Amino acid sequence: MANIETRSTCCYCGVGCGVLIESDGARITGVRGDPEHPANFGRLCGKGLSLAASAASDSGRALYPEMRLTREAARARVAWDDALDSVADGFARIIRRHGPDAVAFYVSGQLLTEDYYLFNKLAKGVVGTNNIDTNSRLCMSSAVTAYKQAFGADGPPTCYDDLEAAHCLLFAGSNMAYAHPVLFRRLEAARDARPDCRWIVIDPRCTDTAAMADLHLQIQPGTDVALFHGMLHHLIWEGLVNADYVAAHTEGFAELKRLVRDYPPKMAAEICGIRESDLVTAAEWFGRSPASLSLYSMGLNQSSHGTDKNLALINLHLATGQLGRPGAGPFSLTGQPNAMGGREVGGMATMLAAHRDIGNAEHRLDVARHWGVPVSRLSDQAGLPAVAMFEALRQGRVKAIWIACSNPAHSLPNLPLVREALACAELVVVQDAFAHTDTTAFADILLPAAGWGEKEGTVTNSERRISRVRAAVPPPGEARRDGWIVGEVARRLETLLYPGAASLFSHTDPDRVFDEHRALTVGRDLDIGGLDYALLDRTGPQQWPLPVGAATGLARRYTDGRFATANGRARFHAPSYLPPAENVSAHYPFRLLTGRLRDQWHGMSRTGRLPQLFAHSPEPALQMHPEDAERRGLAAGDLLRVSSKRGQLVLPLALSDEVMRGTLFAAMHWNGQFLNSGGVNEASQPAVDGQSFQPELKHAAVKVAKLDLP
Ligand code: SF4
Repeated sequence: MANIETRSTCCYCGVGCGVLIESDGARITGVRGDPEHPANFGRLCGKGLSLAASAASDSGRALYPEMRLTREAARARVAWDDALDSVADGFARIIRRHGPDAVAFYVSGQLLTEDYYLFNKLAKGVVGTNNIDTNSRLCMSSAVTAYKQAFGADGPPTCYDDLEAAHCLLFAGSNMAYAHPVLFRRLEAARDARPDCRWIVIDPRCTDTAAMADLHLQIQPGTDVALFHGMLHHLIWEGLVNADYVAAHTEGFAELKRLVRDYPPKMAAEICGIRESDLVTAAEWFGRSPASLSLYSMGLNQSSHGTDKNLALINLHLATGQLGRPGAGPFSLTGQPNAMGGREVGGMATMLAAHRDIGNAEHRLDVARHWGVPVSRLSDQAGLPAVAMFEALRQGRVKAIWIACSNPAHSLPNLPLVREALACAELVVVQDAFAHTDTTAFADILLPAAGWGEKEGTVTNSERRISRVRAAVPPPGEARRDGWIVGEVARRLETLLYPGAASLFSHTDPDRVFDEHRALTVGRDLDIGGLDYALLDRTGPQQWPLPVGAATGLARRYTDGRFATANGRARFHAPSYLPPAENVSAHYPFRLLTGRLRDQWHGMSRTGRLPQLFAHSPEPALQMHPEDAERRGLAAGDLLRVSSKRGQLVLPLALSDEVMRGTLFAAMHWNGQFLNSGGVNEASQPAVDGQSFQPELKHAAVKVAKLDLP
């Protein structure tokens, strides 16, 4: 067969690199970087380069619908109609008996925007519950909440071109070298062109990103707010605040100024465990640079004070006027490939479509009219965010859950509780491309989904750029695209719940779903009324907003100093520094930090099948500082039981001075296939940020004990 080339987007991280898929129409034979895509200009990282190998293999794929008749029985292959009928019957039965909030949907930043839209419409428009949340809750919720509070709207004000335009880069809680590798390559190239660009890295670990820094602030875990307040104190003291910008475009500075009086650099540095002179240097570089760009990620977001950390960082930009122009601004780097798209369609428990609010009656009316449902069907109460959803499942308040393209039995905190919840649920439906994840083990009904390279739609990357994802080959076996599955169940559920009523799911074709979605955005801050598949095909990926009449999307937001708040002013916030939710103690003396490996992705359902991606980090390990190990009589390779108040896992010890004394590090990827446990989240804790509901996955108090092997 002829070699066919299909233009698409990488399915891994939020960089959103363009790819060219080579296939013979039946099998993917190669993948290379798309030289025309503005995110990567042809570059790919190791994960992107391995896409062809992972897509070409059917091994481990979910190929047929499966169902079990009793909890004890093994699942057996069934026909699609039987599986779909059973999902609809089960959900309808529970909704009739216990109300719409007795069911829940847990979806994923891996879903394409169109599929996300359909799931959200099913939950909110058909079932009438806001119990739809997503693994994106574990990813960007704190950044989203802070953007809304500070600027009045979600979404970064920056773009990738700012990477090359910045004169000072402040990395906060981001090991970009591993987590966003292609953007990091762009930064390395930019540094070659402009060697005077200063790099400041804030991270408790000496990561590969920190190793490249001009200044590494190796702060005690969780002390970011104290650091940012200390830097602002210095900026105010030195007259480096942009008073004109503050007066013209912001509000709330006086209150913040009063607060940061309590954070003189010396005291802030003591809290952070760094030298005062280093804190002052960071403030000077940031404040005096012609253009300062902050790049931040899970180190700020995955925290019980994640929103405060984001807000304190945004304060620095507002106070110095470091935003709204090339190379300047706060830039949250999305973890997942479509965490942003999920927010655009409102696919979360705390929001409605197109950045509308659940508590706003006009917003509910807009959405109800658009869908053609009575407004009374849209609940005015926020649904259950991720961690609370599984707690409710364990308590029996939620009785059925439909999990799509996610592996919560590996990725959520406090896994013993998550497993208990899944084991006691009345009905667990799992829709996934892979048959053997930690979560599919609990599925009563398994719905095989099309994977990357097998379905059509769009994703939005970290710089608000919407790119097409295209099918190069058909899905294997009887796997079906996610949108088709949602539509089939939705129509059956509508028949059971509202007999005779017109269906909201008369079509699920991706282009028509995208049109339905973009119509809902008109007049909103993310207006993409002028963007359809034809324009994407013609002009390539585009950033939002792109309203009707615009030729291209907007690269930077707030360039005129006018923000999306009611009065157009950005808001300073004045959060006090608070330590992480769980403190170390005599019983649990170590802080367990978690993070990513360079060549693995999430729970390894894709990357864990490729031997070449283990060359960089071949096996699980627990990193400990050599002095801590020596004091405890431990040696490299010892098997250690790592225990928290919640659970435990066993890992071999690796000595490393990348971690500071008193802290440990383990990668979040290793799952039940590689360990006799679910991974680091056996020990992690479920405390969440009170504003964003994002869990503190990066910090837990633990103890270690050497296993004596026979
Ligand atoms: Fe894919 Fe991210 Fe690597 Fe780009 S940087 S190739 S989007 S994993």
